[in-house]
Amino acid sequence: MIDHKPSVLPLEAETPYVLRSDLSVTVSERSIKQALETGDIGFLHSFTTGSTVDGPGIRVVAWTAGCHWRCLYCHNPDTWTLTNGMPVPLARAIMELGKYRHGLKIMSGGFTLSGGEPLVQDRFAVRLFAAARSMGIHTALDTNGGLGGRLSDEELEQIDLVLLDIKAWDPERHQNLTGQSIAPTLDFARRLAARHRPVWLRFVLVPGLTDNPQEIAGIAKFAAALGNVERVCVLPFHQLGRFKWKKLGLNYTLHDVEPPSSELIERTCSVFRAEGLDAA
Ligand code: SF4
Repeated sequence: MIDHKPSVLPLEAETPYVLRSDLSVTVSERSIKQALETGDIGFLHSFTTGSTVDGPGIRVVAWTAGCHWRCLYCHNPDTWTLTNGMPVPLARAIMELGKYRHGLKIMSGGFTLSGGEPLVQDRFAVRLFAAARSMGIHTALDTNGGLGGRLSDEELEQIDLVLLDIKAWDPERHQNLTGQSIAPTLDFARRLAARHRPVWLRFVLVPGLTDNPQEIAGIAKFAAALGNVERVCVLPFHQLGRFKWKKLGLNYTLHDVEPPSSELIERTCSVFRAEGLDAA
């Protein structure tokens, strides 16, 4: 088992950020490996209630630690490392979630697992989703899709909605932007479509980096052809995470990039709408 004492750590956060920073540094590699294999323990970066942007209705959101991508615009680089999360026993996470079950139903909301990349901890994610579902709670997974192959078809059925990031269309641009290939994400998107799993597509609009109209049209055509994309969320780039890069001693390269204008956001949405998608 884990050498830390996770059971004494509270899951409730006074602010979304109070749980951050090196909470798991004393957890041994062996224990982390065991936790990843079984899902008995999850590493959570923070926990919020009342979100209205991470799925339908009012959401409880657990932010997992750990991400294998390195997006140039990431505003949560403090979630990259698994050991920046707080070790939370699965049973404890389920118990906490259970406290919200009635309220979430009344508010037509649910539970969203975000990150970081939640599928770095795929066993924990799957077991937490199954528990949420058994309590009648709507479940959503916010993912870059790169590790979607870790989920079986049966496990996909435990997820009511996938918030899927497609970050670029050109494979080389995607590689430069994220450090990873786009292929697994597109494979996951096709698989979700084949199984008729609802998807909200998320696209971060960065002037000079992801605003090429032909590339956006490529994503739009792909998404429209899938047939299961209920909504496209165009997320404007912002600089709110810049201080974290500095604090972590990371090389941030987007200092001079401005957030997109409202005209550019509208133009981008209209490219998606031209393919018959609901975009905002
Ligand atoms: S996938 Fe998300 S958490 Fe991971 S580096 Fe990219 S923006 Fe950050």
